[in-house]
Amino acid sequence: MKKGSAGRDTKIIHGGLDPAAHRGAMSVPIYQSSTFAFPSAEEGASRFAGESAGPIYTRLGNPTIQALETCVAELEGGCGAVATATGMAAVSTVLLALLRGGDHVVMTHPVYGPSRGLVDKYLTRFGIAATYVAATDSVGLADAVRPETRMIYIETPANPTVDLVDMELAAAAARGAGIPLVVDNTFAGPILQRPLEQGADIVVHSMTKSLNGHADVVAGIVVARDPKHLAAIRDVSITFGCTMDPHQAWLVLRGIRTLGMRVEKAQQNARAIAAWLEKQAGVAWVRYPGLESHPQYELAMRQMSGPGSVIAFELDGGVEAGRVMMNSVSMIALAVSLGGVESLIEHPASMTHKGIPLHERRRQGITPGLVRLAVGCEDVGDIRLDLEQALAAVAAAEMVAK
Ligand SMILES: *Cc1c(COP(=O)(O)O)cnc(C)c1O
Repeated sequence: MKKGSAGRDTKIIHGGLDPAAHRGAMSVPIYQSSTFAFPSAEEGASRFAGESAGPIYTRLGNPTIQALETCVAELEGGCGAVATATGMAAVSTVLLALLRGGDHVVMTHPVYGPSRGLVDKYLTRFGIAATYVAATDSVGLADAVRPETRMIYIETPANPTVDLVDMELAAAAARGAGIPLVVDNTFAGPILQRPLEQGADIVVHSMTKSLNGHADVVAGIVVARDPKHLAAIRDVSITFGCTMDPHQAWLVLRGIRTLGMRVEKAQQNARAIAAWLEKQAGVAWVRYPGLESHPQYELAMRQMSGPGSVIAFELDGGVEAGRVMMNSVSMIALAVSLGGVESLIEHPASMTHKGIPLHERRRQGITPGLVRLAVGCEDVGDIRLDLEQALAAVAAAEMVAK
């Protein structure tokens, strides 16, 4: 069997695994070593010259980290990958590798808050400008491109509104301008959406989310289609010191082995919860790519092989309802993050997005009663019961206030 032709679950379970290279170990060993001895001066010279593949020093590369990179590169269909200490290290590495002073980037909104902060707060210091286009206005991406634009950066589904960006239109805009399209694929993950197959050049992930999936690691990765991009990204990651730790790589690799099963179970739960939420009093609307009521349902069907496990919904009672709901969940944890085996809930207007001015929040669709629910792999009846009693608490608090 050729590696490239293996099925999805086979790639998930065998990706990066080479027992013969590690005394038969079926779990890639943790090479917890900062440096690697060269058998000879000649071999040391040839490793530094890039003529021999052996390891040199962990910041530059490490066998455990390489196994993880091989696995994720295969899942996304890229030529290779660079694993990083966090998801934000992956995002910053890509932007720093491909942009320089005087360049311009077109970015969709909303995106993960710190990704936007990186551009607004830091890249502007180096003379890099940005134009923001609404995720739902994919046609507007091409219009925002200027002669000095060097990248289109999108996130789909977008955090926290679960709006989608049309990847085909984004890829056409990038191709038209001869610039790379970068996609943050954290929300969907490689099981449900493979941007490189849909015209993107680079994919970034916070592996903290579904790839690792167990709420015990922060980690990131960049996958590229073009070896030239990959080399530039690796050089920045090594030079800026974004390298992940070998033990961290091993934990993520272990998490990935069950990715298919976890994503399917969480998605099955999310489908049921989203349909149920839509019928509940006190819920103004539900946004989930698996519901026909999602304004971009057709696009979801076209570019995703499944709607995933993150649901956004709006409470009629606004900020106060959100606060009461957060204080009323019991099994579901009040915590940020998503894509894990455990269900998590958060209220953007009072938490993750409170720092954004109200008019800007409104522009990005982050409404006062918006709740982000990351559905996990628990028994669906227990998730529903917990939401039911939390919604009842919201209704009771509203009665008292009246
Ligand atoms: C969490 C997240 C990130 C950042 O990842 P960290 O691992 O927390 O650094 C980037 N993009 C998206 C969409 C995320 O959800």
